[in-house]
Amino acid sequence: MTDRPPQSVGRRTVLGAGVGFAMGSVAVAAPVALGGAPIDEGSARGGKVNFPAIHAGTERPDAPPPNQAPPTRRVGFAIMGLGRLALQNILPAFAQCKHARPVALVSGDKDKLRIVAEQYGIPASSCYDYASFDQIKDNPAVDAVYVVLPNALHHDAVLRAARAGKHVLCEKPMATSPEEARSMISACAKAGKKLMIAYRCQYEVYNHELAKRARAGEFGAIQFIDAINTQNQGDPGQWRQKKALAGGGSLPDVGLYCLNTARALLGEEPEEVQASIFSPQDDPRFAEVEATVTFMLRFPSGIIANCATSYSAHEHRSMRVLGSQGHAEIDNAFAYEGQKLRVTRRDGMAEASTELTLGQKNQFSQEIDHMAQCVRSGATPRTPGEEGLQDQIIMAAIYESARSGKPVKLAPMSRPDAFRGPMQPEETS
Ligand code: NAD
Repeated sequence: MTDRPPQSVGRRTVLGAGVGFAMGSVAVAAPVALGGAPIDEGSARGGKVNFPAIHAGTERPDAPPPNQAPPTRRVGFAIMGLGRLALQNILPAFAQCKHARPVALVSGDKDKLRIVAEQYGIPASSCYDYASFDQIKDNPAVDAVYVVLPNALHHDAVLRAARAGKHVLCEKPMATSPEEARSMISACAKAGKKLMIAYRCQYEVYNHELAKRARAGEFGAIQFIDAINTQNQGDPGQWRQKKALAGGGSLPDVGLYCLNTARALLGEEPEEVQASIFSPQDDPRFAEVEATVTFMLRFPSGIIANCATSYSAHEHRSMRVLGSQGHAEIDNAFAYEGQKLRVTRRDGMAEASTELTLGQKNQFSQEIDHMAQCVRSGATPRTPGEEGLQDQIIMAAIYESARSGKPVKLAPMSRPDAFRGPMQPEETS
């Protein structure tokens, strides 16, 4: 079979003959109306393209097309540290960002730099190693640095980025101690630059929806939260098993999600923690860092959060919220994808359990776009450095409680969401 050009142009032919218009260097035929109806659906209004609904009001409406900023108006990010998270999740997520783009890379490995720069169209002049990194101050394409290094290197990297006059998005855990976290906050404040901690779950749609419903009273008065985040670690030689580079074991790496998500869901700050740690003595993976931690957070309203984390239990990431009139749980709550939200409450004489489908969005793109919008608008990020500092303070209290075997009191906070900035308008609609 061969492709042949049309022999004739009839009345119902879609492309009108002789009415071409130029688009770039390609000549494109102008659309012709069929029976008076416009061929190209949708219309541009207020700088956005919109489409009329095609389904009945009984169906979930389609999401509007993404309204992204043109590349030249997006916030430029330098990615510092080309490890697993940067290459497997963060850089690919920029493809779905609407307000951000990767413009520079930082790595100690020349070959990795070259390969990744080619993949993302980043010029060699915007590739730095750790010795030349400070020259990034002269690169006007870079608005912000995303720090994706091992935990103990976050402090120095954030200070250097702030000194270079760049905003900073820093991976979790923010630091290895409250002292480091304070010095990172003050360095960014002194430089007049924003500091955001990459708590992706606060930008993830299922966790966000659960927090919204819980705060609106949908489950009655919240009584109890149950959060588990575990994974079974391999090679004892990796930096995550070295105290000097990781700062700790399962707690700052994965247990932090239970802590931060419980705080963010309630908007309250715990007034007391009680914890227990177990690390098998004959397992080389736990020569320096802890294996399993359970901790209880007691909040001023009386709510208790029971959290468990482990580096020696098979992957499990769940969160459950129990209220006086119902409960809800998210499977894979802290995973990169695959969240499932189930809501259970009485329905007449029955107990009804409903699974909600929200549509998956890339939580890394959501988080990066949030930072970009804050850089553009001047708003405080939802998860600023102070949010990370509070987790560092609570984690230090968790370690102290496990050591002493006693509960540890924490400073009271007078207002809800004491450290958090607002969500951006497009994130709350
Ligand atoms: P990784 O080991 O895969 O990558 C770390 C990168 O840092 C590597 O490119 C390594 O070459 C570089 N590096 C520079 N100096 C180093 C040194 N002295 N020792 C070791 N590595 C050095 O780690 P990762 O999984 O990409 O984690 C990086 C950061 O991201 C950590 O803070 C981690 O907690 C965080 N993280 C967050 C998530 C999330 O879901 N938000 C997931 C994974 C990791």
